[in-house]
Amino acid sequence: MSKPFEVRRARDVARWSNEADVVVVGLGCAGASAALEAGSAGADVVVVERGSAGGGTSAMSGGVIYLGGGTPIQKQCGFDDTPEEMFKYLMASCGQHRDEVKIRAFSEDSVAHYHWLVAQGVPFKPVFYPHYSGEPPTDDGLVFSGSENAYPYKDIARPAARGHVPQIPGKAGGLLMEKLIASLERTSARILTDMRCETLVVGEDGAVAGVVLKHFGEETTVRARKGVILTAGGFILNRDMVAVHAPDLARCQFLVGSDGDDGAGILMGMGAGGLAINMSMGSISLPIIPPKKVQFGVMINAQGQRFVNEDSYYGRLGEYVMYRQEGRAWLVLDEKCFERPEVPREIVAVGESTAEIESALKLPAGSFAATVELYNRHAERGEDPLFHKSREWLAPLEPPFAALDCCVDTSFYASFTLGGLRTTIDGEVMTPEGGIVPGLYAAGRTSAGLAAPGYSSGISLGDGSYFGRRAGRRAAR
Ligand SMILES: Cc1cc2nc3c(=O)[nH]c(=O)nc-3n(C[C@H](O)[C@H](O)[C@H](O)COP(=O)(O)OP(=O)(O)OC[C@H]3O[C@@H](n4cnc5c(N)ncnc54)[C@H](O)[C@@H]3O)c2cc1C
Repeated sequence: MSKPFEVRRARDVARWSNEADVVVVGLGCAGASAALEAGSAGADVVVVERGSAGGGTSAMSGGVIYLGGGTPIQKQCGFDDTPEEMFKYLMASCGQHRDEVKIRAFSEDSVAHYHWLVAQGVPFKPVFYPHYSGEPPTDDGLVFSGSENAYPYKDIARPAARGHVPQIPGKAGGLLMEKLIASLERTSARILTDMRCETLVVGEDGAVAGVVLKHFGEETTVRARKGVILTAGGFILNRDMVAVHAPDLARCQFLVGSDGDDGAGILMGMGAGGLAINMSMGSISLPIIPPKKVQFGVMINAQGQRFVNEDSYYGRLGEYVMYRQEGRAWLVLDEKCFERPEVPREIVAVGESTAEIESALKLPAGSFAATVELYNRHAERGEDPLFHKSREWLAPLEPPFAALDCCVDTSFYASFTLGGLRTTIDGEVMTPEGGIVPGLYAAGRTSAGLAAPGYSSGISLGDGSYFGRRAGRRAAR
């Protein structure tokens, strides 16, 4: 299934089963945020969800939310952040296809968005957890979740931790969704579960007028007087769409999603005339830490050469291996920095010398020796003129060595999609000609993400909830 869904004509709907001002399709973080804001703006809201409860992939997630610009938690943890520094980091990290207008708004409104989440009941503990780039095992509320404190970003924007994590040990996405849905249930919004949206209904004027749903095999409809907001997740679990648009993502062992990530939201939007962009883009994670100590090692390619600073965020490492090294890389450690990464990685070579590693990994003779010689010469002085790894992780490497597998096809990588419907800053779905599809909005992974590529943890829940709110407000207008 990769063809846009055919719309139903309003004239073919004999009788609407239900109606509302705003219909939200999918109750993950983007849908809950959209519904809450549409309701606050005075709209009568119906949320339709294909599952028997809301939550979606958001509820399975780590719950890290990218927020900054000087949130109370950042201040209490000693980070001096401003909207401008957050903007500079995101502009530098979010790839060539980034949307400057959206990044500006996301950064400038981030403190207010934090307060909105707190007002919905989402708790954050003002304690910084220093060891991870993802959700901490503790209930601490702040982590570094990207490459903010690594080259080149640390020289572009003042580093600040921006991964905000709801207060619960381990995966916090469940708590985030529990709080957002509880907040929504306190409003007059109607939540209809076990309702799979099959397609959109379009009026004679081309405006989206409602949705067609399936409820235990029975067809039903909801008329949307003001608009439909598509927040139905991404497409990582739609094999056909991934094969057509993002085949590299399918090479990763772990496709990060839930059943709803079947692309239906995107295909519905395209069927109504919307344009999908950045469809090959995704988050590609190569987790090597924790433990952080392995960052003393060197990551090498099939030519035995380094190609990135090893203290980069795991999303940057993943992208670099996938796209710049044809998916082949190894992390070589010596005895001082050897420790098994928490996400298992096979030891594919051990050697008493650089030559033994070259032979075991079938690298060109002398290539790894040259890499180690150059690396050590500078590491002795705490320098890395090639890739600028932080001094903190620099020390000469000495045999014996062990190489951990970081190849895409044989080791653990995780991916999810970041492409989707092109939207305005207020979530209006755009057409290929640059206009908008009247009455149609999208947010979360049904829309094209803020990062494309250049993902940092937390941007998905961050952009989904923030732009979901904006779509809700605009649809209610
Ligand atoms: C293990 C894991 C860890 C992650 N950690 C993080 C993290 O820490 N931070 C972060 O930012 N991101 C993280 N992500 C990614 C993030 O969870 C998702 O990208 C994000 O939750 C997407 O939110 P959404 O609202 O767009 O979609 P979802 O949360 O998936 O919500 C979409 C909803 O729409 C429903 N739906 C789908 N199709 C239909 C239909 N046809 N009709 C009606 N309903 C429909 C679905 O059932 C679902 O409830 C993680 C993902 C996983 C799996």
